[in-house]
Amino acid sequence: AKAEGRNTFRFFEAAMDEAVEERRRLELDLRLALQRGEFELHYQPILDIASGAITSAEALVRWRHPTRGLVPPGTFIPLAEETGLIVPLGEWVLRAATHDARRWPAHVSVAVNVSALQVRHGHLVRTVRAALEATGLPARRLELEITESALMTDNEHVCEVLHDLRGLGVRIALDDFGTGYSSLSYLRQFPFDKLKIDRSFISGIRDPETAAIVRAIVALGTSLGMVVTAEGIETPEQFALARAEGCTTAQGYLIGRPCAAGDVLAAVLPGAAA
Ligand code: C2E
Ligand code: CA
Ligand code: CA
Ligand code: CA
Repeated sequence: AKAEGRNTFRFFEAAMDEAVEERRRLELDLRLALQRGEFELHYQPILDIASGAITSAEALVRWRHPTRGLVPPGTFIPLAEETGLIVPLGEWVLRAATHDARRWPAHVSVAVNVSALQVRHGHLVRTVRAALEATGLPARRLELEITESALMTDNEHVCEVLHDLRGLGVRIALDDFGTGYSSLSYLRQFPFDKLKIDRSFISGIRDPETAAIVRAIVALGTSLGMVVTAEGIETPEQFALARAEGCTTAQGYLIGRPCAAGDVLAAVLPGAAA
């Protein structure tokens, strides 16, 4: 049994080495990817429920890796955050998204995800202002999505950054709402324009307790003057329930999957597509 334990440990060690090695390769690749222009943005349409129009699209980064193929952000964003690479990557995302959105109809905004590190150390206000100036996109057509993890530390500084961003005319959304630890206190401290209800609530919205939570979030958000978005709508039933609970905008595979930048015009202008 002792020998067996030893073998198991060796096996475990080998697996660990392999994981460390893979991570190191990925980190090296990630550094080069920015220089090589391997990142691209896909866009997912967001529907205004009352008017039935697509009024914005969320930029979602992908990595077109020469051998790994199209890598989803879940694989490399955490590593980019740990290594600080998220700051230059985030700058690229902001520049590319504002550039793309400039060519969309004037009623369509672009939403860009920003990481905690960008808010805390990334000269975010300067970067955003530069992107708007370089592309000529009006500030009201840019929305920044921030998760609660970005807010957890150094509240005073973060609060100042958010106020400055708002001063530029940019809108701010609180992403993945309901999944953090103290969502409610953030609502008192920061001037959000939008709440995005996390997909986990929408996928469970058939359940009466979950629906009641969605209803409460909508009441809270709308009474504070915020737009409330239902994320991750996959079925007509989820859409009907989210609408019935008062969500103002909707996003999810049912409305549209993320698509390549070249296809976004067709996605935001249904009927106008060739
Ligand atoms: P998120 O901001 O919550 O983005 C929504 C994610 O849910 C996207 O995954 C989207 O493709 C997926 N999604 C949308 N509708 C549905 C649906 O109906 N069903 C299901 N199952 N999924 C749906 P994606 O593109 O893999 O992005 C994952 C996360 O990576 C994002 O979550 C965001 O936190 C992060 N991310 C993406 N792009 C960026 C970026 O440019 N910068 C930063 N900092 N983070 C990013
Ligand atoms: Ca988001
Ligand atoms: Ca989200
Ligand atoms: Ca999420």
